[in-house]
Amino acid sequence: MAVPKRKTTPSKRGMRRSHDAIKPMSFQECPNCGELKLPHNLCRGCGHYNGREIVSTEA
Ligand SMILES: [Zn+2]
Repeated sequence: MAVPKRKTTPSKRGMRRSHDAIKPMSFQECPNCGELKLPHNLCRGCGHYNGREIVSTEA
């Protein structure tokens, strides 16, 4: 089994982990119904995306 030759220093470990923080989820308001939705995703409230109805919300 391959094994690291040297122990990772606390500095190198910290540099690697500098990108690990998770950012808070972002939301956008749907231009059609005003509900909060995920960017680049279909609106869950009205089924619209990019000004068009993609999924019908009629039951
Ligand atoms: Zn909507």
